[in-house]
Amino acid sequence: MSQAIPIFYYHSVGGAPPQTLALTVFRRHLESLRAHNFTLITVADLVQGRRPHDGRPCAVLAFDDGLLDNYENVFPLLLEFGFRATFYVVPGYDGVTRWVNPRNGRWSDVARQSYTISFASMQKNQRRELVAHGMEIGCHSFTHRRLTRVPVRELAHETRGARVFLEDELGAAVQTFCYPNGAFGRREMDAVRSAGFVAACGTMPGYYRAHGNPYALRRFLVENPLFFEEVLGGRAFHPAAWPLSWVRWRNAQVACR
Ligand SMILES: [Zn+2]
Repeated sequence: MSQAIPIFYYHSVGGAPPQTLALTVFRRHLESLRAHNFTLITVADLVQGRRPHDGRPCAVLAFDDGLLDNYENVFPLLLEFGFRATFYVVPGYDGVTRWVNPRNGRWSDVARQSYTISFASMQKNQRRELVAHGMEIGCHSFTHRRLTRVPVRELAHETRGARVFLEDELGAAVQTFCYPNGAFGRREMDAVRSAGFVAACGTMPGYYRAHGNPYALRRFLVENPLFFEEVLGGRAFHPAAWPLSWVRWRNAQVACR
């Protein structure tokens, strides 16, 4: 098992620009995965060693924030390609429309002046349908606050509380977590572990390491087909690709707001 397994992560796909990935680009990612004979597994599969033993390379796709366009645009394409993925959802966004300011690309959870592009969130029945088709629903906290700024008495609500809420509605185990804004330290990792999750994702770039810390999984934010190919081929940290991955890491810090 010498393949460098990447976890790619996305937010909006096929929504209104600028804070979205064009559907044509996303389709090219899927076509590339298929052309290279990849098997798509979930984050839970990856960390628990459930990988195919047929010698095919593996990759993971994760979608943060539970946006409705993930259900409307991504889900049908995944079915078309026969791929699975992990969706990190936020129960506190049920019924919430989120807004983007097109001038600076920032997100707001409430309507504000200059925030003119709306994004609806997935609902319970849509999350259930994803699970029924073999997708993983993971937890992205209850309210999408930076956990490093959450008082210790509220950490259990954001971790264990969100897991129990989602498991009740889905009738399925919710096994992995994703830190909002990629913000975590020792305290947040301990809270996630004691809440019953087997792993958690951040936003630092890097391939999966089987002997690494499962509560600090690295991922690649990919919005460029050239970079996607570099990561897929295990060359994300080749000197020629470094400027690209640095830019993508910087972008990750603003994309998840
Ligand atoms: Zn997020």
